Amino acid sequence: MADSDKVAIVTGAARGIGLEIARELLSMGMTVVAVDLKEDLLAELPEKLGNPGDKLLCRAMDVTDADGFTALIDEVVEKFDRLDVLVNNAGITRDGLLIRMDDDDWEQVLKVNLTSAFIGTRAAGRHMIRRKSGSIINMSSYSGLEGNRGQANYAASKAGLLGLTKTTAKELASKGVRCNAVAPGFIRTEMTDVLPQQAKDMALAQIPLKRFGQPSDVAMAVAFLASDASGYITGQVISVDGGMHT
Ligand code: NAD
Repeated sequence: MADSDKVAIVTGAARGIGLEIARELLSMGMTVVAVDLKEDLLAELPEKLGNPGDKLLCRAMDVTDADGFTALIDEVVEKFDRLDVLVNNAGITRDGLLIRMDDDDWEQVLKVNLTSAFIGTRAAGRHMIRRKSGSIINMSSYSGLEGNRGQANYAASKAGLLGLTKTTAKELASKGVRCNAVAPGFIRTEMTDVLPQQAKDMALAQIPLKRFGQPSDVAMAVAFLASDASGYITGQVISVDGGMHT
């Protein structure tokens, strides 16, 4: 199967890193199903992505709706008779110091960032193993590798994704399905734009390459993992962080 004939689902695709992933996969010729909560942003997506016509499908959905997410994956397989790539990219932060963090902030972050990836992986994995091929990519984070003050919930969810990634890789490798994670560092998106200047200055000081990442930096790594060029790579974590995690 040529990369250009592949069908991919990207969650959290309405803006930021997810939008650039959709752009990159479309540029490889893939059909992309863009999933996001934000209906208004999804409506603008075709234009932002150069009006790719029926190569792009936009679906407004909350990835924490387990039945809805599973049904969407089944529907995509029904429509295209295949699903080659799933990118579990949707994610949120609800930062706060651990001793003051309330239960809802813990649970919601775990649900969006980690549980949704499990739901998506289970549903997509069932189809992919039947075809004996597929690539699942989970969006982890530097915080998941190293921990981060004020992000107990987020770091736990992103570390959990690494366990999910490695286990999925081990369980599905013999069925021809790969699973890898990408761990971005500090990437310029709306998620990080809201941080106070002092936090941005401190982050920049820790980046060996001395610049913040761009969403396209992450999208390139995802595109590689989605393509056949990475066909012998599974269970790995690619850091895209300017050299912070070595
Ligand atoms: P962003 O906030 O700009 O985009 C996230 C997208 O996910 C939004 O469009 C949002 O509507 C969507 N989303 C959130 N909850 C959802 C839900 N329940 N269902 C469906 N869609 C939902 O963030 P970003 O910076 O582009 O981050 C993308 C991913 O990369 C996230 O998983 C994030 O944790 C991860 N990440 C980002 C950075 C960074 O520095 N920006 C660093 C490491 C990891």
